[in-house]
Amino acid sequence: MPLLEFTSKGIYCKQADVYLDPWRGVNKALISHGHSDHARWGSKHYITQEINVPILQHRLGNIIVSGKKYKETFIINGVQFSFHPAGHVPGSSQIRAEYKGEVWVFTGDYKTQTDGISTMFEPVNCHTFITESTFGLPVFQWEDPQKVHQSINEWWAQNHDEKTTSLLMGYSLGKVQRLLKHLDPSISKIFTHGATEHMTQVLRQFIKFPKTELITRDTTKKEIEGNLVLAPPAVLGSTWIKKLGVLSTGYASGWMAFRGARRRRAVDRAFVLSDHADWKGLLSAITATGCENVITTHGYTELFAQYLNEKGWNARTQKTQYESETEEILVSE
Ligand SMILES: [Zn+2]
Repeated sequence: MPLLEFTSKGIYCKQADVYLDPWRGVNKALISHGHSDHARWGSKHYITQEINVPILQHRLGNIIVSGKKYKETFIINGVQFSFHPAGHVPGSSQIRAEYKGEVWVFTGDYKTQTDGISTMFEPVNCHTFITESTFGLPVFQWEDPQKVHQSINEWWAQNHDEKTTSLLMGYSLGKVQRLLKHLDPSISKIFTHGATEHMTQVLRQFIKFPKTELITRDTTKKEIEGNLVLAPPAVLGSTWIKKLGVLSTGYASGWMAFRGARRRRAVDRAFVLSDHADWKGLLSAITATGCENVITTHGYTELFAQYLNEKGWNARTQKTQYESETEEILVSE
């Protein structure tokens, strides 16, 4: 019997009777991070890294949740569990499970770059590594994020000079705060959409961010015009953006590395900034674990597993309900 198995409710540890990021309500759920495809509603008891506690409460409402520090071990029916930094978004964790000397690690989502807000990814030794592979193709290679942040600030400064509003979009947990952290507040005021502002407020207890102003019903076009507005991509095409005045739109996503995606989304500026590991990041992470077995869960799972098998790992894919950072998610979040 494997230590972790894949069931209709999610990844299950039978020995401990707990699920990891289950996609249905269960008795006890260990949660890797706060994105909606990993932290789902309906479980009786949640256990997660401590930064995720207020994030989960914000997203899931009145739940029973307990928080653990990174690397703090806790034992459930003989199985030793711990959360380790995944570098994906604040609080994001790999989940380590050990029983009778056998070690499995489930990554949830991760990236190997620093982002200024999440605890940096740390490789964990294991026998079996259950990994995402969202960008598991050699074509994906991220450029230096500092350069991306610099080009965002330049775009914003130029818009400001031309009295044009900069509408900068990204998903509400992680991406928006990563953008905000690197904005240069000397350029102009930073306004926010409600969905963006609320999650940012939750994270302000852990991370220092530049000042933001929430756009309310009473905020006028005159106040906003020429400044920067942070919002989820769902605002594109909504009537909400009418009050922002003359606009230049910018969108930050790993998918912007694909020209087709850029064309599909009607934005003026595309910034390639992902919270997932690129090809090299995935390979370096897997190598660093010293694992023998790899299970790919979402993204380019087949091609990536095939490559790993050719390179000597024992790799296979497993269908899950985790979603890659797709255009659809970005719109719905
Ligand atoms: Zn995620």
